[in-house]
Amino acid sequence: MEFEAVIGLEVHAQLKTRSKIFCGCSTAFGAPPNTHVCPVCLGMPGVLPVLNKKAVDFAIMTSIATNCTVARESRFARKNYFYPDLPKNFQISMYELPLSEHGWLEIETAAGKKRVGITRIHMEEDAGKLVHDEFAPVSRVDLNRTGTPLMEIVSEPDMRTPEEAGAYLRKLHAILRYLDVCDGNMEEGSFRCDANVSIRPRGQEAFGTRAELKNMNSFKNVEKALAFEIARQTAVIEDGGRVVQETRLWDANAMKTLPMRGKEEAHDYRYFPEPDLLPLVVFPQWEEELKARLPELPDARKARFTSQYGLSDYDAGVLTSERELADFFEAVMASCKGEPKQAANWVTGALMGLLNARGLSISESPVSALALAALLTLLDSGVISGKIAKTVFEEMAETGKAPDVIVKEKGLVQVSDASVIEKAVEEVLAENPAEVTGYRGGKTKLMGFFVGAVMKKTRGKANPGLVNELLKKRLDA
Ligand code: ADP
Ligand code: MG
Ligand code: ZN
Repeated sequence: MEFEAVIGLEVHAQLKTRSKIFCGCSTAFGAPPNTHVCPVCLGMPGVLPVLNKKAVDFAIMTSIATNCTVARESRFARKNYFYPDLPKNFQISMYELPLSEHGWLEIETAAGKKRVGITRIHMEEDAGKLVHDEFAPVSRVDLNRTGTPLMEIVSEPDMRTPEEAGAYLRKLHAILRYLDVCDGNMEEGSFRCDANVSIRPRGQEAFGTRAELKNMNSFKNVEKALAFEIARQTAVIEDGGRVVQETRLWDANAMKTLPMRGKEEAHDYRYFPEPDLLPLVVFPQWEEELKARLPELPDARKARFTSQYGLSDYDAGVLTSERELADFFEAVMASCKGEPKQAANWVTGALMGLLNARGLSISESPVSALALAALLTLLDSGVISGKIAKTVFEEMAETGKAPDVIVKEKGLVQVSDASVIEKAVEEVLAENPAEVTGYRGGKTKLMGFFVGAVMKKTRGKANPGLVNELLKKRLDA
């Protein structure tokens, strides 16, 4: 029997506000433990929460960008459970009346574009962090994160492969980064994903029993955990067993998921409306104002990159995958007259290669957009050849010097003086009589060999167009 996977994702995204959701404490990451706390986020008796308007703005913007319908009225609710990282013994979340519902976003799959439904988006506060001592049998509690504003974005069970789940997460991540509502740092936990997965015989409509996977801190790990889990569930069923509903933890070192807790141990949260907060009412005008302020989003920007710059779907997709990268490309285009396709190649090729090799993000690039534009201008106007441009680029990355300075210092100006190139051509032909005979006898593929030899003789500085032209003239004569 052939099986098909069914996947639904729950994403917790930390909203990028300066202060917490119900008090004025800072949300900055990495402060000494318990320094960003106050009576409200410590859950002292008698304190009252005050909702952070910016956090609501951000969650509404996300709702609009993911095609969700924002509720005119939503409600905060208490989710009750007892755990040392939760000083109030309840988390303020939303339950029956979430902020928004019924959205979707579009992903690219092997079979073309596909819509993944978004069930709902709600707001809640984060819990604190337990720090387990490596040597002593104790755990310490850090409440700096307590009360950090979160958004939970729940998808429909619309994905069928780990790749589709990865595409959905990357798209959602890009949208949040474009909106600038979440820093998206998966390692620091500002973008966390729980993956629900079940399998069913292909063609069957009813869903199978699902497992919920936790503890994946990168897109790749989500895909790997899902692939492992699909294989595990398939093996269980093929062995005549049954999948049990449970929560499983991904172990990135062992490359497998391990049971954490079963359905019996699932909590009864005893949700009830939060009596200390009023219903959240979003007037249409508030939503309209935010809508008007939304930046161009990844899909729209990608479409524009193909139409305005004539880039391929692939290049446009890579360049718009991150807002900063798209901004970088457009900054290059704004200050050089070169071909967009060429600029795109340099950004996705040499520049991204450099950043990957050094583990840097685009905002940390040692070569600025202006510097790259200057290099492309030199290339475009024929001052340097493509080959030399690569050398200059490496030098720019190494020293931070401007391209024209490097070209001058190293004497790399392209040789377009026909008499100089003719001389090199003559020498190459004289040194390789057998190849000349071969070429004239019909082995025209040898052209590449001659071009290479002339370039070598001129230390890469000869204008390649001119080299080709002069070689052809001499050889065909
Ligand atoms: P819970 O709050 O217990 O996690 P939800 O109803 O909110 O449950 O569902 C969580 C996620 O699980 C959603 O993203 C949903 O799409 C997904 N899901 C629900 N049923 C299945 C299933 N049988 N297989 C895979 N995913 C599922
Ligand atoms: Mg869940
Ligand atoms: Zn506080």
